[in-house]
Amino acid sequence: MKASFDRAEVLEPGRLEAAVAVGNIPSLIAVLYQLTEDRCWLSERYRPTRSRGMDDNDAGGLPEQVQAEIRDATVAAVHAWAEGRAPAVPAPTGDELVELMSFCMGEEVPHEYEAMAAELAGFREVAPRVPVRKGQSELDVVVIGAGVSGLLTSIRLAEAGIQHVVFEKNADVGGSWWENRYPGAGVDTPSYLYSYSFFPRAWSTYFGKRDEVQQYLLDLVDTFDLRPSIRFRTEVVSAVYDEVRQRWAVSTVDAEGRTQTLHATAVVTAVGQLNRPKIPDLPGLDRFSGPLFHSACWPDNLDLSGKRVAVIGTGASAMQIVPAVAEQVAELVVFQRSPQWIAPNADYFRPIEPGKTWLMQHVPYYLAWYRTRLSWNFNDKVHPTLQVDPEWPFPERAVSEVNDAHRRVFTEYLEEQLAGREDLRSKALPQYPPFGKRMLLDNGWFQALKRVNVDLVNEAVIEVTESGVRSASGVFREVDVVVLATGFQATRVLHPMEIRGRSGHAIREVWRDDDASAYLGVTVPDFPNLFLLSGPHTVLGHGGSYITIAEAQVRYILDLLCTMIEQDLGAVEVRQDVHDAYNDRVDSAHRQMVWSHPGMDSWYRNAAGRVVANLPWRIVDYWEMTRSAKLEEYIVEKRRAAAGESRSPEAAGMREAG
Ligand code: NAP
Repeated sequence: MKASFDRAEVLEPGRLEAAVAVGNIPSLIAVLYQLTEDRCWLSERYRPTRSRGMDDNDAGGLPEQVQAEIRDATVAAVHAWAEGRAPAVPAPTGDELVELMSFCMGEEVPHEYEAMAAELAGFREVAPRVPVRKGQSELDVVVIGAGVSGLLTSIRLAEAGIQHVVFEKNADVGGSWWENRYPGAGVDTPSYLYSYSFFPRAWSTYFGKRDEVQQYLLDLVDTFDLRPSIRFRTEVVSAVYDEVRQRWAVSTVDAEGRTQTLHATAVVTAVGQLNRPKIPDLPGLDRFSGPLFHSACWPDNLDLSGKRVAVIGTGASAMQIVPAVAEQVAELVVFQRSPQWIAPNADYFRPIEPGKTWLMQHVPYYLAWYRTRLSWNFNDKVHPTLQVDPEWPFPERAVSEVNDAHRRVFTEYLEEQLAGREDLRSKALPQYPPFGKRMLLDNGWFQALKRVNVDLVNEAVIEVTESGVRSASGVFREVDVVVLATGFQATRVLHPMEIRGRSGHAIREVWRDDDASAYLGVTVPDFPNLFLLSGPHTVLGHGGSYITIAEAQVRYILDLLCTMIEQDLGAVEVRQDVHDAYNDRVDSAHRQMVWSHPGMDSWYRNAAGRVVANLPWRIVDYWEMTRSAKLEEYIVEKRRAAAGESRSPEAAGMREAG
């Protein structure tokens, strides 16, 4: 993460001392080492303990006196830097970085994490991939979606000087963040991890709320001047590949119903997997007389005061809605078809201390180390615990001993939260193993359930009438408002667009509607020059931040596009055998993981039970896999002369960015 620091502000009396007083000790140790190269700070006396759970471990598990020594030395070192002394180790890499990481994480960090950490922290500069142009090579791109990954794609394409247009169905950028405005909406990934590596923000809370995330994306758009490349309120309905012209014909419809077709060499889909609401097939949905809507379509200015409200579903969306509205409504009935595992998190609503923000903005390397620590603690640590241990004697309740230990921790937390409410305790305790469905963080859920005006009905809803909701046992609840927190059509990847490849087959047929697969989650045989972001098998079920995955995918796609320009290629199409071998590995990895457990259903799996959504790999593995594209894995075609001439007027009007 690159940043420039204002040395003068550091010298303002008292500022640095006050900030360092609240700084994260393990991060300060790394800062101190980089500024001084004094190895005494890497001695046993100063070695922090490892973080437990999701805690930042601010004190490093060290005695007050030792913390004070570290803080005093940091103040002196940062002062010296502000007065002009150059940092002693400005960019640790290799063994030195691994040693530093291991020391300040309080546990051994394997060398395989070096490359990703060095790049994300900005210690190893990797220039953006830009084509080395030889002669006149034409290549243009349509990007579908201006959310988190589409905006990133536009930035990288612009850096590479590749002309492109972004189609966005909504009136503004943000994708899911633009759409999901329900009360309580926000991330459940730490804010500083849910950030692009190249675009820092001074987040106000440890877990950013929706408006701030949306503002972050708006700021990104302004900073990189992305708006001229985006056509808003324009939805892509189809993309059809013309193999003779080596171009995609992309058809759109705008808000006024006008249709248009534009031609481009490549298409990047950045539509997300959690975008198209899943409306349950319930009789009577259209008969309800009051407001009834999906959680992603929350009506503006809806006043729930004094209303009787039904929330159908208990996933991540309901988890945020219920505590946010419980106080305001007269009655809240929560329909739970199956319970969820919920982890404690004391930082969920916590503001970030101003001193810490100041350190991120004024002290070199502090932000890089804070993020490096978050990556280590949140990315892959849980992954090994999700593997099925065939020897484990209680497979119905956990997949391994560690998974069972997680069950104990989460169960104890649930029992403590619901103490004295045996009725709720038995309803809310899942039977399947933790992490089988997407884990949720407690944001006041249990406390909300205990309120006198909240009722948890542990039954599926089977019918909606004019005045209320009926659940499986026939019990009817009269309500004024119904919220369908029923999730998204996650396994119907790219639905509802019609996408036809080289042979004319629609991707929906190839994928039998909900059985998507792709090489690296990015490319599909028979669909040349089509690249997917957030494609099949790329959703994170074990930890980390989607933005890290998007950065890896966009880097991979840019490598391919730049290679096409450099080698004057008209088409790249992943080989079927490469795709098949990869997906065999994906499927067999998933079969060994908790989310294939028979004890629950989830949006990770399709109707036949195959895991379609999740990444089976550790993030560090996927980062390596997508580091650069190997052309030998593709069928490549030279660009045909006619291809350039077929450029449509619209394509010619694309913004030449960069
Ligand atoms: P979801 O996890 O798919 O949950 C849908 C819920 O609706 C489930 O509890 C499901 O029950 C229930 N349901 C469906 N039909 C029902 C019926 N007829 N009667 C009763 N219940 C019914 O959807 P989501 O909560 O929108 O979350 C989807 C994903 O979006 C999350 O897992 C997460 O990845 C992302 N998300 C993230 C955040 C965040 O970062 N904080 C917030 C929101 C969403 P079953 O469990 O029995 O299927």
